[in-house]
Amino acid sequence: MPSLLTRYARWLHTGWPAGPAERLPDVREDGTTRVPGLFVTGDLLGVPLLKFALDSGARIVGRIAADPGTRARNGDASDALDLAIVGAGVSGMAAALAAQRLGLSFRVIEGAVPFATLIDFPVRKPIFTYPSDFTPAGPLQVSATVKEDLVAELEAQVRAAGIAVTPGRAERIERDAGALVVRIADAAPMRARRVLIAVGRTGAHRSLAVPGGDREHVHHRLHDPNDFAHRAAVVVGGGDSACEAAAALAEAGARVTLVHRDGALVRPKRENVERVERLAAATAGEARDGSLALRLGWRVREVGARAVTIESGDGAHADVPADVVFAMLGRAAPLEFLRRSGVRIRGDWTRARVLGMTAFVAFCAWLYDWKSGGAFTALWQRHDWFPFNLPALLAAAGGSLARDAADPRTLAGTLAISAASPSFLYTLAYSAVIVTFGIRRIRRRRLPYVTVQTLVLMGIQVGPLFLLPEIVLPLLHHNGLLPRGLADALFPVVTYGHGREFWRAYGLVLAWPLNVYNVFTDHPLPWWLAISAVQTLVLIPLGVWWFGKGAYCGWICSCGALAETLGDDQRHKMPHGPRWNRLNMAGQALLAIAFVLLGVRIAGWALPPGNTVALFFVRVLQPSWKWGVDVFLAGVLGYGLYFALSGRVWCRFFCPLAAFMHVLARFSRFAIVPDKPKCISCNVCTSICHQGIDVMRFANQGLPMRDPECVRCSACVDACPTGVLQFGQVRGDGTLISVDQLLASPVHQRERS
Ligand SMILES: Cc1cc2nc3c(=O)[nH]c(=O)nc-3n(C[C@H](O)[C@H](O)[C@H](O)COP(=O)(O)OP(=O)(O)OC[C@H]3O[C@@H](n4cnc5c(N)ncnc54)[C@H](O)[C@@H]3O)c2cc1C
Ligand code: SF4
Ligand code: SF4
Repeated sequence: MPSLLTRYARWLHTGWPAGPAERLPDVREDGTTRVPGLFVTGDLLGVPLLKFALDSGARIVGRIAADPGTRARNGDASDALDLAIVGAGVSGMAAALAAQRLGLSFRVIEGAVPFATLIDFPVRKPIFTYPSDFTPAGPLQVSATVKEDLVAELEAQVRAAGIAVTPGRAERIERDAGALVVRIADAAPMRARRVLIAVGRTGAHRSLAVPGGDREHVHHRLHDPNDFAHRAAVVVGGGDSACEAAAALAEAGARVTLVHRDGALVRPKRENVERVERLAAATAGEARDGSLALRLGWRVREVGARAVTIESGDGAHADVPADVVFAMLGRAAPLEFLRRSGVRIRGDWTRARVLGMTAFVAFCAWLYDWKSGGAFTALWQRHDWFPFNLPALLAAAGGSLARDAADPRTLAGTLAISAASPSFLYTLAYSAVIVTFGIRRIRRRRLPYVTVQTLVLMGIQVGPLFLLPEIVLPLLHHNGLLPRGLADALFPVVTYGHGREFWRAYGLVLAWPLNVYNVFTDHPLPWWLAISAVQTLVLIPLGVWWFGKGAYCGWICSCGALAETLGDDQRHKMPHGPRWNRLNMAGQALLAIAFVLLGVRIAGWALPPGNTVALFFVRVLQPSWKWGVDVFLAGVLGYGLYFALSGRVWCRFFCPLAAFMHVLARFSRFAIVPDKPKCISCNVCTSICHQGIDVMRFANQGLPMRDPECVRCSACVDACPTGVLQFGQVRGDGTLISVDQLLASPVHQRERS
């Protein structure tokens, strides 16, 4: 049994790539941080590309210069500069040239040498100045195709502009008497009204965490491969830097072994993999000068004085000769420097975040109890607090308003009844938030896909999920315009509110088992059973087969509508990784419970009236589902964790309808189709996915993204800086059928215009 469950979990959720999202500072699109006056630019914004580093540096300085608070006011005797730039890399220098052009007083602080990161590239490293059709903002530009030419052209432009650099390693940035102070190691601090952090990701090389990993002959960068000719070199890593270093060493005459823990080189660019494989094939297993051996699927266990001990996945050990070791494991952003300076790091659990989350969960607990008929509803009713006193308030207003409000055939009369219930106010506020943030999303993204998707989400929320049940149906009913047969079939008579259960109209959009209340009724309601069956068993499977689960979750559902609008800024907060992917299975458990409840409900109907099964269902099972799933998981946790863990907590982990669609989605033609050669493994797509999907690992392996969790939000397609991703359809073997015509990528939009 457990192994069957494990296999099922693997087939559905745990077998997909599940790499982590990159840890980066919390920076807004315009480079601002939570520290007033402190900006961040370059690689720390998330995209590790030269042209983006240039562009962001110049653009952010343009914004800083336009701010009246940046420049000294008349009579200001302070010694503060307009701007201090920390880091004389590509972005810092682009900022410096832009600041000079805009007439700011500024200085650039550099901890090593200007363009240190580029100077550290291997000799003759090829440079990919991608995207080729993109010209960065500002005066500093690049066009070279090898490292030496790149450094030379950048240095020449900086020299021509006469930019001087102040040597020193910035240790922290503090606020002091209306200015920011850059504390510099072994040097006087620098005061400025604005500070731009442009330190790149050179903060810390990831080290080999094994015995001997810190020996003197273990390096993290390769300057000149010719220094290692005729020597035995081990390169550890599976990215572009590792491949480039291994190939350059072998071409310079070293005896090279490339060790990588995964069984294949999936992350590097195709040309780098081909270069390495060509050298390895030419070597044919022979260790001689200029040879390159691949040890894929092996981990380093120990670094000795003359050899490296490695271990394969099945436990075999081997010693590889090594006069020198290059641990090319990438670099982590200089997070401590940023934290010391007050910049928040995405995903850090600060005390403020925990307190904020706790307070919001508590608020949601109150709200969902109040709207769902719990203890707080009773309290409000007992004291006749708003909105329960609305009819009395309107009656007291007197005049025509009181007259209209007393007559349910008028709009005021219908509203007086509907709005006297917390759920009306809740739905009104919910719809208003979706419309407000939906308009904001459309204006920010300006992409055909986003525009159409958001308009559809807004329209469904406002129409069938608010106006129809709360106003249109009651108004028709009170004016005798609702056909009696239709009303009897769908909206049973009750003694409260409008006299009929118009709230059941939510079931026209919200399908079973997301909305169970039209199926789990005291007596079977045949029309609702038929509608629910068609929705869940016909329309949704067809939609999922064609468009993926996002056809419902990203285009129709009200939970999705809020997540794509209000939640647009919260996407990157969704946790990633294998442990969280296991929690995806919680929805399967709830789906199984929903089916059990359905069976019990049907048994209760089938048995004689008043049977204990039916009683047990009505008194125990149905309230447990309502308070446990709808109120606690969907309301209190789903919304309570919105600003801590993103807007899709309920959708990803718990929604039983989504869980059903995950199974359907395993047979879907929908995929996100990657253009692998364009992928630079920047992790932007993975980091922004609020369903926790490791999109990058599909893209850089050239595989269609078919993780059933995808809700077609388009955030990854939109954010990918090189236009790798497109929505499309593939066959079971992954071959392409077609790509969508509705553009979701700004890169494709630029290319087509
Ligand atoms: C091996 C490798 C290969 C690459 N290949 C390409 C490519 O082919 N094409 C491409 O487009 N991009 C490539 N990139 C990415 C590109 O190099 C970066 O996007 C770009 O350098 C980022 O610029 P930046 O100014 O943000 O950071 P950096 O260029 O890293 O500059 C940061 C500067 O800040 C300084 N600094 C750091 N900390 C401090 C401190 N505390 N105080 C003062 N100064 C500090 C550093 O010494 C450095 O000079 C590559 C990157 C690497 C590592
Ligand atoms: S469209 Fe992209 S970001 Fe959105 S859910 Fe799917 S994979 Fe994640
Ligand atoms: S697909 Fe795009 S966003 Fe994702 S890793 Fe590749 S280049 Fe970056």
